Amino acid sequence: MTQYPDLQLYIGGAWRKAAEGQPVLNPADESVIGMVPVARRSDLDAALAAAADGFRTWSRTSPAKRAEVMLRAARLMRERIEEIAYAITLEHGKPIAQARLEVIRGCEFFEWDAAEGQRTYGRVIPSEPGIKYIVMHQPIGMVAAFSPWNFPMSQPARKIGGALAAGCSIILKAAEETPAGAIHIARAFHEAGLPPGVLNLVFGVPSEISEYLIPQDQTRLIAFTGSTAVGKKLTEMAARHMKPVLMELGGHAPVIVCDDVDPVATAITSAIRKARNSGQVCTSPTRFYVQKPLYDTFCKTFAEKAQTVTVGNGLDAGTQMGPLANHRRIEALETLVADARDKGARVLAGGERLGNRGYFFPLTVLVDLPDDARAMREEPFGPLALINPVSSIDEAIEKANALPFGLAAYVFTHSARNADRLAEGIEAGNVSINTLEASVAETPFGGVKESGNGREGGAEGLAHYTIVKNVSHRIM
Ligand code: NAD
Repeated sequence: MTQYPDLQLYIGGAWRKAAEGQPVLNPADESVIGMVPVARRSDLDAALAAAADGFRTWSRTSPAKRAEVMLRAARLMRERIEEIAYAITLEHGKPIAQARLEVIRGCEFFEWDAAEGQRTYGRVIPSEPGIKYIVMHQPIGMVAAFSPWNFPMSQPARKIGGALAAGCSIILKAAEETPAGAIHIARAFHEAGLPPGVLNLVFGVPSEISEYLIPQDQTRLIAFTGSTAVGKKLTEMAARHMKPVLMELGGHAPVIVCDDVDPVATAITSAIRKARNSGQVCTSPTRFYVQKPLYDTFCKTFAEKAQTVTVGNGLDAGTQMGPLANHRRIEALETLVADARDKGARVLAGGERLGNRGYFFPLTVLVDLPDDARAMREEPFGPLALINPVSSIDEAIEKANALPFGLAAYVFTHSARNADRLAEGIEAGNVSINTLEASVAETPFGGVKESGNGREGGAEGLAHYTIVKNVSHRIM
């Protein structure tokens, strides 16, 4: 029978209970489903000591052997897909079908990184006889990583995959609100034979853990996914200690709908994608800029589709959108919708919380928003679609680039000329044309401007987990 896992810290290859815990809630009914352990200073010290040992062992393990362990762990997670997906849905709320896809995606990250870790090639620079210049990539050291609650399994997978493939050890503080995905990853790696101390998993008070781990000598990289506000704080702290960061932060993705596409099909595709993970995705399509000839049909179709989306418990067959993951999102969305209404926006679908038990909020469609509506500037991180008309491609580019974010952007057009102009002109780390998929394991993912720096995935992803060393060797 599938059940929610026992939640413990994982340090030095052993499971460890904590004296204190805090409840984990099911967002569908607000019931307590488990107690997440709160690490104390002594637990963090144990994790640091273990990670130092782990680094010594793992950095000297051959890339092929590392890949073998990672692939074995990924295989175990694929075999346990039902159990992991059930736990994710219970703690996060997303429909179980989406939780299964998340597990597969997390495994793909491990599998890609395992293979890529065997290709961290250096180079030999041509030189005069008698001297050799050799550039090598070595694992950077211990990584302090922080993953968020929106993808309980695939977000930790990004960080653990990168670190382990490059030969680093890692202390991951996963999200306290959704701990089970990371627990399942640690369990799989334990059984796959990962040496003790290479992967250490903690939970607790986020600010206390980051403030303790970042300044430690042995911490060589800070990898964080979460809000821009927290990302800036951690980056400042890292800078004080001259540590590099890998920051995957907020977004506010524009979608440019050009006047040469089918507005009905595009609106339906967009509404379905907007509902994914209840919009709690940093790449979620959010600001729709639709060329005027298509505007009315696009808005009407989007709203009609939104009203058909079945919202409910993610474990129920037929649920297309689960609850929001926590009460903070409900409050944030209510505030953004009220502000937009006050400033003259029209609500074509949704707009109000559903019921008062569980954090349910419908797919909400707002149109004709002024640029100063808060929702147009602040990341809603929820099921809000904001639709406005534009007169030209130039205006669309200007609006798309008007915010300090630059993570994902989307374009719908059949015109190669439009596609090229938009792909070149939009300031974002990822531009997707005629698809609402922003990243897969083999492509580099990350932001520009306040959406962060560095890339996860793709051939670029592992670079952050390594240092470049040049060896000048005069041959005697
Ligand atoms: P938040 O900024 O308080 O927390 C986001 C994540 O950061 C959480 O997992 C939290 O545990 C962690 N965190 C918070 N303070 C920390 C600290 N001092 N040190 C280390 N980790 C810390 O916000 P929230 O209410 O949980 O989420 C809301 C916002 O976060 C959203 O509006 C969205 O912008 C952002 N977010 C982004 C992503 C993403 O994929 N980029 C994921 C989740 C949340």
